[in-house]
Amino acid sequence: MKSFFPKPTFKIDDIISYVELVAAERINLQKGMNFKIKPDYSIFLMSVRRNAPYTDEWDESTNTLIYEGHDAYSNWVENSKEADQPLITPSGSLTENGKFFTAAQAYKMKLVEHPHKVKVYEKIQAGVWCYKGFFSLIDATIINNGVRNVFKFYLQPVELKALNKEIVLPHTRLIPTQVKVEVWARDKGRCVKCGSIKNLHYDHDLPFSKGGTSLTAANVRILCMKCNISKSNKIITIPPIFT
Ligand SMILES: [Zn+2]
Repeated sequence: MKSFFPKPTFKIDDIISYVELVAAERINLQKGMNFKIKPDYSIFLMSVRRNAPYTDEWDESTNTLIYEGHDAYSNWVENSKEADQPLITPSGSLTENGKFFTAAQAYKMKLVEHPHKVKVYEKIQAGVWCYKGFFSLIDATIINNGVRNVFKFYLQPVELKALNKEIVLPHTRLIPTQVKVEVWARDKGRCVKCGSIKNLHYDHDLPFSKGGTSLTAANVRILCMKCNISKSNKIITIPPIFT
């Protein structure tokens, strides 16, 4: 079916609607882990759930995002929150955990040249999403969290110059989902300069390059594209990248 939406392209930390997300990917995403939903990459959806301390961990020392695997469906086990996260389905095929785990192992064992690529979107609240960029799936483990075994997927933020020509982003300044949720509530989903609710973006008040941190809401705010461009012009002399 031909889409009526122009295909949008997002920059990291752009705030988008679910409709824009679907228009960009041309697919309805119904679950969090979507292995090879596109020929060249997979998609992770992230959201902050209550009582979920392991989701959206950011390990600064290794520059990796740690994404937790998914539980068994409730009709597979008695209590999906207490059961080990499954590698295979009851019928014996790989679960999404299993597919991503296998892809990570293949890269670690050098069976493939390039790490698997995962695009990440995070849910800020109902209908409000944020684009987090592309990541390389570099490792996966199964750990016991005291209650059960869960999967951990280790992802490195990358900039894709072309397919399989990635540059690892060395000084990434990923804003944790929890901080974005907090900022969204505080700034009431509007540009803090002009009040616009269109073309919004998470902005670092003090840029990461000048020592600003992404890890607290105090240094992050919502700006619209216009206000972001005028800010960029004041701080740096090279043209902004919004073209
Ligand atoms: Zn504005």
